[in-house]
Amino acid sequence: MKAAVFHKPGDIQSESIADPVIEQPGDIILRVTSTAICGSDLHILNGFVPQAKDMVMGHEFMGIVEDVGNGVSKLRVGDRVVVPFPIACGHCFFCSNGMSTNCEHSNPKYGPEGNILDNKGGALFGYTDLYGGYAGGQAEFVRVPFADFGPRKVSDQLTDEQCLFLTDIFPTGWSAIDWAMLKGGETVAIFGSGPVGLMAQKAAWLKGAGRVIAIDILDYRLAMAKKANNVDIINAHKQDAIEMIRQMTHGRGADVCVDAVGMEADRSFLDKVKATIHVEKGSMSVLEDCIKAVRRGGTVTVVGVYGTPFDNFPLHRVFDKGIMMRFGQAPVHKYIDELIGLVENGKVVLNDILTHTMPLSEVSKAYDIFKKKEDNCVKVILKPGR
Ligand SMILES: [Zn+2]
Ligand SMILES: [Zn+2]
Repeated sequence: MKAAVFHKPGDIQSESIADPVIEQPGDIILRVTSTAICGSDLHILNGFVPQAKDMVMGHEFMGIVEDVGNGVSKLRVGDRVVVPFPIACGHCFFCSNGMSTNCEHSNPKYGPEGNILDNKGGALFGYTDLYGGYAGGQAEFVRVPFADFGPRKVSDQLTDEQCLFLTDIFPTGWSAIDWAMLKGGETVAIFGSGPVGLMAQKAAWLKGAGRVIAIDILDYRLAMAKKANNVDIINAHKQDAIEMIRQMTHGRGADVCVDAVGMEADRSFLDKVKATIHVEKGSMSVLEDCIKAVRRGGTVTVVGVYGTPFDNFPLHRVFDKGIMMRFGQAPVHKYIDELIGLVENGKVVLNDILTHTMPLSEVSKAYDIFKKKEDNCVKVILKPGR
């Protein structure tokens, strides 16, 4: 089969490799019909999340069941499914309590500590040996373990484009809002208007926000936010975002701030110097802005990825303002059935953020366009096909 193979930072190629096979009774083999490139894939491409061996990329994918292990009871050959990006067993303590990204049984490098290079959470598709070393779905075929727990059938009435983003970015944006426990009418400021930020904007409206503000540094992404999600917009390169948010909120700040950027934020020179001195990877400038822009007693949720420790974390501000914070990867399994319902009932449209559809064979070019944000790129779907 053809697959998008990561070799080393900066080097992802479409190549011919062996087809996957059933390895465990709970596996299926999926023939991938659509797969997307995620912002978090760039952390691997850019070397922020290390991977020594070759690996098939991709954790956002859907397709048709091609083969079924003899322990699978819920799926048959020919079923059309979307697949949550975390790999989870479905029966451990964490899976049983709505925390599938912490599954105890899917990742050999699993552990309670959450260190930089070991003791990680549950496995993820196509997300390095730290997260289980599973081949991803930017390929013609992919092995899906624990297939009775992860994959969900979707209506044939829906196109791939309408439901592919249920695998990651919509549940991730939804988590950021769900964790903030809105009562209705809140001002929600979402830092980062990439794919996850755009999905968080949709989720904020669906969960009753009174005002949604998108903050980014690229006008074309803010234009999409305004068009797709009817939000207020702030370009943080042209305006003081924190001051603007205070002006919009009687000087108090937003009820909820969401960090949908993570460690690979655009960095000021000073921040780069600081990061070099402290041997940090990336930046926490967006998280610092969220902590400044949120009102006293408000909530900051973080779905952008952070992979290393940071010194000078503004603990004083978090304490003085009494901020509630929640971080992490989306427990997709917990939310996905409700979210599929929202798509099927037309309560939300997800594919209005799609800007590029390309063949899997052009994966190197696709990553390049996505990484450099060329051609007003927001989200890329790759189409396999022999
Ligand atoms: Zn993703
Ligand atoms: Zn589990």
